[in-house]
Amino acid sequence: MRAFTYERASSVEAAAKAAASNPEAKFIAGGTNLLDLMKLEIETPTHLIDVNDIGLDKIEPTQDGGLRIGALVRNTDLAAHETVRRDYGLLSRALLAGASGQLRNKASTAGNLLQRTRCPYFYDTNQPCNKRQPGSGCSAIGGFSRQHAVIGTSEACIATNPSDMAIAMRALDAVVETVKGDGSRRAIPIADFHRLPGDTPHIETVLEPGEMITAVVLPPPIGGRQIYRKVRDRASYAFALVSVGAVIQSNGTGRIAVGGVAHKPWRVEAAEAELPNGARAAAHVLLADARPTEENRFKVELVERTLAAVVSEARG
Ligand SMILES: Cc1cc2nc3c(=O)[nH]c(=O)nc-3n(C[C@H](O)[C@H](O)[C@H](O)COP(=O)(O)OP(=O)(O)OC[C@H]3O[C@@H](n4cnc5c(N)ncnc54)[C@H](O)[C@@H]3O)c2cc1C
Ligand code: SF4
Repeated sequence: MRAFTYERASSVEAAAKAAASNPEAKFIAGGTNLLDLMKLEIETPTHLIDVNDIGLDKIEPTQDGGLRIGALVRNTDLAAHETVRRDYGLLSRALLAGASGQLRNKASTAGNLLQRTRCPYFYDTNQPCNKRQPGSGCSAIGGFSRQHAVIGTSEACIATNPSDMAIAMRALDAVVETVKGDGSRRAIPIADFHRLPGDTPHIETVLEPGEMITAVVLPPPIGGRQIYRKVRDRASYAFALVSVGAVIQSNGTGRIAVGGVAHKPWRVEAAEAELPNGARAAAHVLLADARPTEENRFKVELVERTLAAVVSEARG
């Protein structure tokens, strides 16, 4: 077992400062992803900064009518929150489609956004994986790739982002608030938060080392029928093969973000402009540059069919 030290931070400032002073440190929230990765020695922090006790567990209205969700708000509490259920139903539904009740009780908003891929080769330390060990190769390319990405991939990595919550956040245009070790703060639109793999698949977000998420802010509600449809190999407790998060307005316009197809939540605004022309037209633009493997080619049609089901449901 690898030794590591642990501290329970007492404030946001203390946590950020502790991270800035040790490049080998990691924050720990619910621990539902990080601890699994530490047990497998995929993540090997020498120091853990526990951020559970620093007051980031509140959901509050913003001045412009939006909602600020603290980084430590549990997935269960967020999904059940009255305002979220009423005004941001897509978010509530996406959360409830993820993991299990027990996991959602521990999983935090920030941890969910930063959870790592479920590519089986990433978890198998006997196999080459550029994300786990940069430069070692990608076992999924030419290997078992049924679950993998069909768009935005690179020669280095074809992994997907596994978060259901992030799909809803993307469709709702959330903004991620952070603090760095020097005390400076940033507000990062969710569209820019996750990265495509390129030749550095181990760098998954635009966060700088030691930068801590403090909250995620939702803009004022946009109404519409809000639907999250997740297609998976079994009815519960499984990651998405394909998922569609949608906000469809009564005039047929709307927003769509898709999961299970890329290294980040996949949203193409030009595809949304095609929504009034039907799911096929929108899906065509959404996945125009798809480069599926033989094993996951089915996902391209599955996106179109899932989107068609969502549009049909929205129209009643
Ligand atoms: C069996 C199983 C099934 C699952 N099924 C699903 C599913 O179907 N859909 C789905 O979306 N998810 C699923 N999950 C994943 C689950 O949602 C995540 O593990 C969880 O959301 C992570 O949150 P956490 O608070 O436990 O993060 P942690 O494990 O504590 O941390 C995860 C990462 O976030 C970092 N971090 C935590 N807080 C902060 C912060 N404030 N600032 C900066 N960095 C931070 C940590 O350093 C770490 O790198 C599943 C997990 C398991 C184990
Ligand atoms: S797809 Fe990405 S995570 Fe999976 S083996 Fe290839 S490099 Fe690793």
